[in-house]
Amino acid sequence: MKQFKTESKKLLDLMINSIYTNKEIFLRELISNASDAIDKLSFESLTNPDIKVDQAALAIRLSFDKDARTITVSDDGIGMTEEELDKNLGTIAHSGSEQFKEENAEHQGDDMDIIGQFGVGFYSAFMVADKVRVVSRAFGADQAFAWESDGVKGYTIEPAAEGERSGADDHGTDVILYLRKSTDADDTDRFLSEWGLRDLVRKYSNYVRHPITMMVTKS
Ligand code: ADP
Ligand code: MG
Repeated sequence: MKQFKTESKKLLDLMINSIYTNKEIFLRELISNASDAIDKLSFESLTNPDIKVDQAALAIRLSFDKDARTITVSDDGIGMTEEELDKNLGTIAHSGSEQFKEENAEHQGDDMDIIGQFGVGFYSAFMVADKVRVVSRAFGADQAFAWESDGVKGYTIEPAAEGERSGADDHGTDVILYLRKSTDADDTDRFLSEWGLRDLVRKYSNYVRHPITMMVTKS
């Protein structure tokens, strides 16, 4: 088990415990990361003739399992190596979070949607999930790795099982959220439905330039 960096711990704590938080924005953050990952691969393919990808086929897929209480955001993007999973998901380094923390210090106590205003990133998943598993295969790698955390104690990284990624492609990332138990104040059950997820996509991810598809399994 690896420990989060101190500043990441503080932000995680804020995420999980903030009462001024619009929890819905978790999906916007994960979709925007998926979209960024596809952009990175597209960009690489422009500059590196060895990379041949069918740009039009690169997509973001959403799925859910009501019984298991999971939501999966899957992309055909550039993916992450074992080292990148550690570096990118174990530390908060990006400006969005820095800005959030500064602004948050000023606005503490204001009855407003603090987190919703900024790109707060990956850790927003822990507003709705008590476990997050990220299964990723970097472009060109032949092994996928799984990062997993409860957002509190720390995280683990291990080789993923063969075929664990839902994506058909041999590169990209699955982010699997294990949703917290639903309470009256924090109704997470609605996210475990097709209309619930569609609603969030319409509201927050309308302008994402890659196709977002919903995988619906018959129950
Ligand atoms: P930001 O998107 O502002 O950089 P995030 O907290 O949202 O910050 O994500 C942190 C980092 O984790 C990203 O910069 C990226 O390197 C990596 N990452 C997150 N999600 C994905 C993904 N689906 N595919 C590839 N890399 C990802
Ligand atoms: Mg992001």
